[in-house]
Formats: sequence, structure tokens, C-alpha cells
Amino acid sequence: MDYKDLAELIFPNAKDISYYEEKYPERDLKEGAIVTRFAPSPTGFVHIGGLYQSLIARKLATQTDGVFFLRVEDTDQKREVENGISGIVQALNDFGIIPDEGMISETEGKGNYGPYRQSQRKEIYQSYAKYLISQGKAYPCFCTPEEGEEIRAKQEAAKIRPGYYGVWAKCRNITVEEAIEKIKNGESYIIRFKSPGREDRKIKHHDVIKGNVDFPENDQDIVIIKADGLPTYHFAHAIDDHLMRTTHVIRGDEWLSSIPLHLQLFHELGFKAPKYAHIAPIMKNDNGNKRKLSKRKDSEAAVSYYDEEGIPEEAVKEYLLNIANSNFENWRRANKEKSIDEFELQLNKMSVSGALFDMVKLLDVGKTVISMFTAQEVYDRALVWAKKYDKELEEMLQDKEYALKVFGIERGNKKPRKDISKWAEVKENIEYMYDDKFLSKEQEYPYQVINEKEDIDKILTLYLEKYYDENDDKQTWFDKIKELAGEMGYAKEVKEFKANPEMYKAHVGDVSTVLRVALTGRTNTPDMYEIMQVLGKDSIEKRFEKAKNNN
Ligand code: GLU
Repeated sequence: MDYKDLAELIFPNAKDISYYEEKYPERDLKEGAIVTRFAPSPTGFVHIGGLYQSLIARKLATQTDGVFFLRVEDTDQKREVENGISGIVQALNDFGIIPDEGMISETEGKGNYGPYRQSQRKEIYQSYAKYLISQGKAYPCFCTPEEGEEIRAKQEAAKIRPGYYGVWAKCRNITVEEAIEKIKNGESYIIRFKSPGREDRKIKHHDVIKGNVDFPENDQDIVIIKADGLPTYHFAHAIDDHLMRTTHVIRGDEWLSSIPLHLQLFHELGFKAPKYAHIAPIMKNDNGNKRKLSKRKDSEAAVSYYDEEGIPEEAVKEYLLNIANSNFENWRRANKEKSIDEFELQLNKMSVSGALFDMVKLLDVGKTVISMFTAQEVYDRALVWAKKYDKELEEMLQDKEYALKVFGIERGNKKPRKDISKWAEVKENIEYMYDDKFLSKEQEYPYQVINEKEDIDKILTLYLEKYYDENDDKQTWFDKIKELAGEMGYAKEVKEFKANPEMYKAHVGDVSTVLRVALTGRTNTPDMYEIMQVLGKDSIEKRFEKAKNNN
């Protein structure tokens, strides 16, 4: 009786590994092409860190004419949720991160290296497990969970390293005959890897992001096939990334410490190891403490948050690239109009430790991104968002012609308006342009320098009676406000005012502010000339009336 008999008894139907080696040949790609993947578990939650990883993976594959695929790691069936896979597919799709291969819906995959769902690869893992057993590199372990507990308790009491290794690995030295007998007697078992490692030896490894690292060798006889016949993450990783011909494993740095084990698995399986790039997580400043963005505590950890808030996908991606490569910011400054697709991302420029997530900065990027959209784009995107999240805004957008005028204010020029950072802000930013909202609302009027009712009323009355003409061009319009200022004894030029402050109560800018506040209830708006053009005379009159009646 030898290892082969044992392997045959455990996995009688498993194919020879040569079958898979031939079925999934080396990919025919040009030199330097990066084959990489996003490999989430379908837990129903897509973390912004996962999006970050896939953005990086997608970009690198595209830049090198490589392949990016989506593999679903569903071997932990306890963690599974309904529609977990479609949720991931949808999230990537929403951000325009489209895999070349892999799962495309809850049940379907595309590409020649599938199945791309681990629970459908059981036979493949079993073939390789059989191969390892037949080589004496893996063995059945009959320890019960209680025995496992006992071992752990003893190790803890003696303050030694926990795990199934060395003298603690009870089943490692069971003879083939004994194992066969136990199996024939119906004892249950799992399959463990027989680690050739020694803890007192070190391995050196070069990580594409973290640089040179060294670790003690792995000496744990980890489980490779669980009682349910499915593999553990470690084993599946080695088999899948080998057979899917991954060149770069880009993943979260919580896996960095598994490197000794993973390299050992690749080696014992006779595979060439891929390159590894361990990405530092996105961090959050929590009252001075830096910690990982947490699914439980931080709403912005969920990719769905960005959809709910209406932060455009372009802004999120742009912001993530800022985090990824510090030279992105300079590139963006020099290439304001270019698509982020043209930015050359470099893995070796990724930061070794986790960058802080900065919502203020993200919203700032959002402002810039939205400022570059045409009025039509703003309209379309805001409407899609409103249909999902804000009925009132949806109604406001029904009059498309008017909405396009409102969004068109100060847009399409060199210095476009930058007041909207996300779709959830659209309503408050355009509400004052709608008579039915503005005129019926109890209004605060934050007048500034000129704030006596008498002066204000006079400005509003005189302006309409004497100066306002809706056919004026912008220069004439502004000259008239100067005239009005002059007539009321304010300085017609700010310069003039600054030179002789004692001579004037206020200047033309202050008069403008009165008009602006009376019109909109705000001190800060996009260009007032354009606002007046869009509102039209009738609305302006009503607004000034309302302002005058406000005491
Ligand atoms: N399923 C693993 C995770 O979600 C994948 C890690 C990897 O990319 O290999 O963390």
C-alpha cells in the first residue's frame, strides 16, 4: 500500500492533473502583459477597498494588454448571501470596471479559464489534492474538532505558537495502512498539506508594493480540503491563480503574512509562483486614531454609499487614483481634460502604508468632475439619481427646458461653476431658481454691508424702475448697477471706495449683494447676470416684491 492507493481511495473519480494543465494553457499574450483578478467573497457587501483593488487591477491589465477577471470565492458557504454575485458584478459595472473574463451574473461566467466560481471547481481542487496525497505531500487528518480544541488549549497554556505543526500534527505520521483502515471504517476526515517548512529558517520575498520582506518558513499543516469537500482559501488561491494563469496577485495586505505558506504551496504543487502586490487598506482618521475603513462603523466603506449620495463614479475613481499613486495629482494638474484612462498607473509607486480616506477631498474632486459636464449631462445624471432617491427633485426636473437653462448657468466656459459635488446636492443648489419653491418659502435674507430696510427697498425699486432691461448684454447690465450705486451715493468702483473709504457707506459690490440676496436668498451664487436671464423679468419682480415685504 502506498500514497497512490490512499489518494485513489480518497478521490477515486478525480482526473489526473495533466487534464487541467492542458485545458488551461499558458495565455498567449505579449511580453509584460499583466493577468490579474478581483477575487471577492459574495457576502453581499462590496467594500470601497474592493473597488479600489479592482480599479488598480483593471487599469494595469488594460495598460499592458493583459487580462482582468472576476473570480468569486464562495467556498465559505456559511458567509454566502442571495444575489451576492450579481451585487459585485453590478457594483463593478456601475463604476465602468468591466472584467474581461469571469462572472457576469449570479450564475454565468465568460472566458476560457472558468468556472470562475470556486464552488463549481470542486473537482479541480480534488484532482490537485489527490496529486499531493499521491506524492506524500498531503494527508487525511482524522482529528475531531474537540481534539483540535484540546491541542489549542495545551498550546495556549504552555504559551507556545498555536497551530497544527511539528509534534502537534498528530495525523501527519499516520501510516498509509492506518489511514486507509480508518477511512474504510467510515471515520470522517479532512485533508491537510504536509508542510516541508521549518520555523527556524527564513524565506526572502520581493513584494511589488511592499518591497523586500522576510518571514520564517511556514511549518503549519494547513487544511486544504474541508469536511464539505471544498478547499480553503489558501489552496484554492494556489490552484486557481495557477490555472487561470495569473501573473500578478493584487490583494489586500492582510494576506502578506500568508506569503510563506502560499509560496510553499506553489512550490510543492510544482507551479511557478505569480508576483504579489499587497495593497495597503484605505484608512480613516477616527479621533486621532488611524484605522481601517470599517464595514460596521463607516457608511462610506460601502460602495453603495456613493450611489446613494450621488457621488459620480468618475469622481470616486479619480479620488482612488489619487490615493493609489501620489504623482496622479500632478498629472491631473497638467492634463485637466484627459480621461483617467490615459494616466499610467504604477504598482511600485503605491504607498506601503494605508492612505487616509478624505471625504472633503473626494467631494472637491466631485465638484471639479461635475463642473466639466455639459448641462445636458448634469441633467441626465441628476435625473437618474433623483428617480432613485429624490422624488421632489425628479419633479423639479420635469420641465427639462428650464432645468437645462438652470444647469447651463456658468457652464461650458473656462471657469465653470463648481457648486455641485454630488447629485444629492443638486436640489439645494437649484431650488432657489424655482419660483414655486422660492416664492412660497419663508426666506432668510442675509444682507451684508447694506442692511437697512429703507436702503434695500430703494435699491430694489430703483433698479427695476430705472435700470433693469432684460435685453441688456452683460457689460451694459453691470454698468447699470454702477449707475444705480452712484445714484444712491455709493462708490461706483471698488477701487474708488478703497481709496476713500470715509467718503462712502458702501460700493457697487455691496449693491450687487443686495440684488443677489433679494433674488436668491443667498450671498453666494453663480453669475447673477445669467441668473436674471434665466429667471426673467416677471420672476425678478415677484422676488423683489417678496423681499420688500419681508420684515
Ligand atoms: N477572497 C479573498 C478576499 O476577499 C481574496 C484575496 C485574494 O485576492 O486572493 O480577501
